[in-house]
Amino acid sequence: MIRLKTNKELDLMRKANRIVAIILSEIESRIKPGVNTYDLDIWAEEKILSLGGKPGFKGYGGFPATLCTSINNEVVHGIPSKDRILEEGDIVGIDVGAVYKGFNGDGARTFAVGEVSNKARDLMDTCEKSLYEGIKMAKEGKRVNDISVAIDRFVRARGYEIVRDLTGHGIGENLHEDPQILNYDNGQKGPRLKVNMTLAIEPMITNGGYEVITLNNEWTVVTADGSLSAHYENTIAITENGPEILTKV
Ligand code: MG
Repeated sequence: MIRLKTNKELDLMRKANRIVAIILSEIESRIKPGVNTYDLDIWAEEKILSLGGKPGFKGYGGFPATLCTSINNEVVHGIPSKDRILEEGDIVGIDVGAVYKGFNGDGARTFAVGEVSNKARDLMDTCEKSLYEGIKMAKEGKRVNDISVAIDRFVRARGYEIVRDLTGHGIGENLHEDPQILNYDNGQKGPRLKVNMTLAIEPMITNGGYEVITLNNEWTVVTADGSLSAHYENTIAITENGPEILTKV
């Protein structure tokens, strides 16, 4: 069931997601060769707490950290570690959740570590733009699948594949709520979109196949063929004036 937020709840969603936006904005300058992902995680946790929030992922389903840090062929749910040191030419997906007064924020970006290849740059660019193509469809009267189709068309036109085993989602008091938002067109219209829905839209794409596997740590999802993957996510609210991006500073 999809529960519409009250205006008061929407304000709490704005605050939770603003914390996420600040983390994603400020972390960019910290991402450089030689940095380990554990240090990024500690910084993010302290920053979220200092902003009056709580980490949204830590402890969720047993996840051990504040950030998901997913490098190169890792799609999502990479676990921060002192042993994972960013290298020149890597791309790293940073996914962060924050809770404020019981409401969740969720957002992700993929960052370049130093100079990256043109193929990595194009993959990231395609993923980011596809997110905005999806967001354009997030308005009253459209269907959930209109978001999926917009992402699907944009990504495929640029020759990339879309991960199918992971999806976007409704968000609110719970990190994951209905509706599920596929990043590809499954031919089914899905629920109608309404004002005061809050949605996390998050394309995950690869420059190889769409198949993914989960590593033995039971979290990290990687591309089955070792291809590169990018991930962008914004939480948005559907308003009378169209989509409002909440994970933006
Ligand atoms: Mg999400």
